[in-house]
Amino acid sequence: MSIYTETQEKLANKIDNNIDYKTWTDWKWQLRNTIKTVQGMSEILGVKFSEEEEKMYHMVIDKFPLAVTPYYASLIDKNNYKDDPVFKQAFGTMNELDVENYEMSDPLSEESDSPAKGLTHRYPDRVLLTVTGMCSMYCRHCTRKRKVGDNDSNMSLEDLEDAFTYIEDHPEVRDVLVSGGDPLMLSDRKLKMILDRISSIEHVEVIRIGTRMPVVLPYRITDELVEMLGQYDNLWLNTHFNHPREVTDSSKKALKKLSKVGIPLGNQSVLLAGVNDCPYIMKSLVHMLTKNRVRPYYLYQCDLAEGLSHFRTPISKGIEIIESLRGHTSGFAVPVYVVDAPGGGGKIPLNPNYIVTWATNKVILRNYEGIICTYKEPDSYEPIFCDRDCDECTLELNLSPEEYVPEIGIEKLICDNNTETTLTPSCNERQIRRSDDG
Ligand SMILES: *Cc1c(COP(=O)(O)O)cnc(C)c1O
Repeated sequence: MSIYTETQEKLANKIDNNIDYKTWTDWKWQLRNTIKTVQGMSEILGVKFSEEEEKMYHMVIDKFPLAVTPYYASLIDKNNYKDDPVFKQAFGTMNELDVENYEMSDPLSEESDSPAKGLTHRYPDRVLLTVTGMCSMYCRHCTRKRKVGDNDSNMSLEDLEDAFTYIEDHPEVRDVLVSGGDPLMLSDRKLKMILDRISSIEHVEVIRIGTRMPVVLPYRITDELVEMLGQYDNLWLNTHFNHPREVTDSSKKALKKLSKVGIPLGNQSVLLAGVNDCPYIMKSLVHMLTKNRVRPYYLYQCDLAEGLSHFRTPISKGIEIIESLRGHTSGFAVPVYVVDAPGGGGKIPLNPNYIVTWATNKVILRNYEGIICTYKEPDSYEPIFCDRDCDECTLELNLSPEEYVPEIGIEKLICDNNTETTLTPSCNERQIRRSDDG
């Protein structure tokens, strides 16, 4: 079955005469013909920009470069491109030049939490490894806008060696998230070398790939690639669909190939004003994803990167979307709505409030329909005191002492075997006065 659409055929012929379906679906051809200029954009769309618009686009692209695959551009509705969700994600607007005083070039402090080139170690047991700065398409809403088009972030295997050594030296790292840029920009061979190198580290239990290729260049998901990825039985893959219009036959085919070899698929959407800030759009998207065996994983609040103010919604919009999903549709179709904390605090989940109130042994809850119910808690509950001595415990976990991971953060306040009752910022003035006096 050919899924070469008329729009795609026309678009292909604008790039080169008589492009057949086979050439169109060659991901390297797509990359070679990525649209990078205002002129290319105007030709492909078949629209004539005014002098003013043209000047504006040049200014935007100078600051944040442009790249769109012919495939992704073919999804744009030319007759109404200004409102088009694909257009908005792919081509900039003047608004990107507005930098608000609260915006940051590295809003998630990925560079401050970087112990080795390409590595961000933020959470206790997992790391983010950015293996390339390249992408087939530059999302206008990218959180790593600071790095887009920056060739320094293209790493050789030697460049990554420090990161691999770091992971080796940190047995607590059991999950490695391979991202970028887009790791599927690398050749199969180079990607395999990276995955093999990570797999050679005994304590790494899970490898994840973060890629937007199924959305912006589904032809990258070749049979050869899938066969190679299918060899790793601890590999997960997360992609980034934001709008139902992106779930095309070509994308579905790519997803099917990946799920067939047993790779669990997840999706991370970004909540974007004017693109998907609508409960109906999100519901339709999560239904399309689950139909194609992709689990909606996260819905991100748009972060505080520079030039994204026009994309940002209030947090209430995200809560509203979750409210419209939870209970109304399959539980596994509901993503977790998160704010990635500015300054590097990691992802913070947000939910509508379901606890109405609390009394002794009674919790009053409300459901998605507005039904208010009482959950009666047990009158007697004997908590099992945990001093982390599994030998003496009736729950039979039987952890060995070397598997003991010390509690941190809020967990430390909750657990039984820690006497600390307060978390105090190190720069708390009252504490500083106390130590000065002492
Ligand atoms: C998102 C992220 C992870 C993975 O977080 P999960 O909640 O486990 O998906 C790890 N490291 C960094 C720096 C991240 O931003």
